[in-house]
Amino acid sequence: MFKSSSITCSFCGTDKSEVSLMVSGMEAHICDSCILQAYDILLQEQQPKKKNKPHLNLVKPNEMKRYLDQYIIGQDKAKKVISVAVYNHYKRLMQKVKDDEVIIEKSNIILVGETGTGKTLIAKTLAKILEVPFCIADATVLTEAGYVGEDVETVLSRLLQAANFDVELAERGIVYIDEIDKIARKADNPSITRDVSGEGVQQGLLKLLEGTTVQVPPQGGRKHPDQRLVSVNTENILFICGGAFEGIDKKIKTRMNTRPLGFASTQHGISKSIESKENFLQFITPQDLKTFGLIPELIGRLPILCHLDPLDREALKRILIEPKNAIVKQFKKLFEMEKIKLQITEDALEAIVDRALELKVGARGLRSICESLMAEAMYELPSQTEIKEFVLDKVYIEKQLTKERAISYLKAA
Ligand code: ADP
Repeated sequence: MFKSSSITCSFCGTDKSEVSLMVSGMEAHICDSCILQAYDILLQEQQPKKKNKPHLNLVKPNEMKRYLDQYIIGQDKAKKVISVAVYNHYKRLMQKVKDDEVIIEKSNIILVGETGTGKTLIAKTLAKILEVPFCIADATVLTEAGYVGEDVETVLSRLLQAANFDVELAERGIVYIDEIDKIARKADNPSITRDVSGEGVQQGLLKLLEGTTVQVPPQGGRKHPDQRLVSVNTENILFICGGAFEGIDKKIKTRMNTRPLGFASTQHGISKSIESKENFLQFITPQDLKTFGLIPELIGRLPILCHLDPLDREALKRILIEPKNAIVKQFKKLFEMEKIKLQITEDALEAIVDRALELKVGARGLRSICESLMAEAMYELPSQTEIKEFVLDKVYIEKQLTKERAISYLKAA
């Protein structure tokens, strides 16, 4: 073909006579259609890159247990069982499901143990290890749809908030549902405005635990017709439920003692301890949860049943000093920032534990006991720059407690 000039597009080679516009540079030329193509490429490059799948910090069970050990005192059995369950749960998330493959089912967990024994702390610490969003929901505020209270779906609003509204991230999170025992089925229902029998709430929780797509109001609260809802799939969310199940140990004891002679002893090897002050929670079975008032379908969706031991004085003492962020360590740090060395004597630790036992507040109350015992010192010492050391001993504690008792006596009078 005859060419009218020697100028051609440096990108596609088209002659200047065949294009409507040719832009020339120092030694190169570009035609209008190449300019448009280049512009498209530029736009695509400038679009935000698609986010990668959320990163999952898969930790081996024994590693996970060691990590939990740094924060949670005792509860060895629970820590082991949970470490395995959580590991399997996240392995399941990594499984690429093919049609004929074995499908690993969800391993939601139910923790049974007195209040303040570390149930929430375990769930919270797990989320920290795994670097996934975590939220706590209270089963007692949940009600069956149509009643006064929160719908079960609103549990997920908090998770969504914890994940900064990143749905994909929330869908791999951990939800801790506290006080699950409080929605146990009860024979009598004294309220007509709120489903206090609990069974309706249990039914409502079933689909969440199993895995379903729910429409979640991102800001929580009741669903309103004009509120924007977000779809969240709960299939890969790990649910951990916890409850004190007060009185269940007595039920377990009764069950074990009414078994045919010798049966309990051969099954658990506890022939001598069965009448003793043994912690009967360790023998808990799903059947006991059913007797307590959880519906079988709910129990079935919480396949990992685990008990927590009551904390004795030795455990309480260890909680004061051993965990990575132990209360005593925190106080030492606070005083250190004032350039004061805080020393807590052995008998002071004992006295603090005694006080916790006296008030029946368990581990949960240790912090507030320490706060009130040290309040005066923390008030005075920062302005007394000559003091370089503060020794908290039993004598000092007794003095503080006498003052506290006097004040509460005056208040009561
Ligand atoms: P619950 O079993 O009622 O969920 P928590 O986990 O909320 O109890 O415990 C309350 C507080 O008591 C925790 O924040 C922690 O400071 C302390 N605590 C309870 N149990 C333990 C434990 N086993 N090890 C260390 N600290 C504990």
